[in-house]
Amino acid sequence: MIKFEKKAMERFNKIPNDVKSKILSNVYCAKCKDTVKIIDFEATMDEDDLILKGKCGKCFGTVARLIEG
Ligand SMILES: [Zn+2]
Repeated sequence: MIKFEKKAMERFNKIPNDVKSKILSNVYCAKCKDTVKIIDFEATMDEDDLILKGKCGKCFGTVARLIEG
């Protein structure tokens, strides 16, 4: 399930699709010690930064990715 705040959704939609898929498949997981695909994520805004919080596609641990505004 993907949950977005309205503002975060607008911000996320501005990212070109190729960049978006690159971001979503290059999230660092501290457990896997590797870059993984983020799944079941939700997006929120922190000032001008977009924050994606979700699960690691490999171990299902919590991962987060900040996208600077
Ligand atoms: Zn992991």
